[in-house]
Amino acid sequence: MMKKTAKLFIISGPSGVGKSTVIHRALQNFTDFYFSVSATTRCARPGEKEGIDYFFIGKEEFEKGIQNQQFLEYTCYCENYYGTPRKAVEEHLNLGYNVLLDIEIEGASQVKQHMPDSVTVFIVPPDLQELERRLRSRGTDSEDKIAGRLARAKKEFEKAPDYDYLIINDNVENASQELTAIIQAEQFRYDCRKAVLEV
Ligand code: ADP
Ligand code: 5GP
Repeated sequence: MMKKTAKLFIISGPSGVGKSTVIHRALQNFTDFYFSVSATTRCARPGEKEGIDYFFIGKEEFEKGIQNQQFLEYTCYCENYYGTPRKAVEEHLNLGYNVLLDIEIEGASQVKQHMPDSVTVFIVPPDLQELERRLRSRGTDSEDKIAGRLARAKKEFEKAPDYDYLIINDNVENASQELTAIIQAEQFRYDCRKAVLEV
């Protein structure tokens, strides 16, 4: 098999834009990906599963994890901690798996600083009204949680120019095809394939 270098992909975008939906669909096209499951102190939404959507942990346990440097990055978002468990990401990259993180702008910037070769993708909705409609249609967040996420969305849009790629999620099928195309093109980069020349 051709030797290649594993890549880290970071996907950001406001809550409710459709990141989980688009990522889930795009990753069905690949077999060599590890989707990083984050830890969070927020409560599980109906239907969310421990260890699949998140590791739901308490504030004390999260803060112990920060002290023990168990997170590749972490942040406080809408009054809850969110963080990427370091060990699983590093282990999968070392095994040659591409890794995908679904994280917000502050965490993305921390990872990009440590790992400048990571590929960053920002997903936006067609407009703010549609974002609000999607947050409501998900039916999982209270009105004050939705207001907090919309306020935060405006701050997040300002960071979109720092990202390598932009996807407008007006249609799930098109957006997931665009994410698939980005992942495929990144794997054809010279730096990703050069290992084959070094054998
Ligand atoms: P995020 O992971 O960014 O918070 P989700 O994937 O949970 O967002 O999507 C939020 C809601 O929007 C879900 O109900 C999802 O089905 C819906 N959704 C996602 N993409 C689209 C789209 N292109 N058009 C309409 N609804 C969408
Ligand atoms: P939600 O509560 O809607 O699942 O996620 C809220 C926000 O937190 C989303 O923008 C999501 O990308 C981000 N997020 C999820 N996990 C992490 C993480 O491990 N680190 C950081 N920095 N953000 C995360």
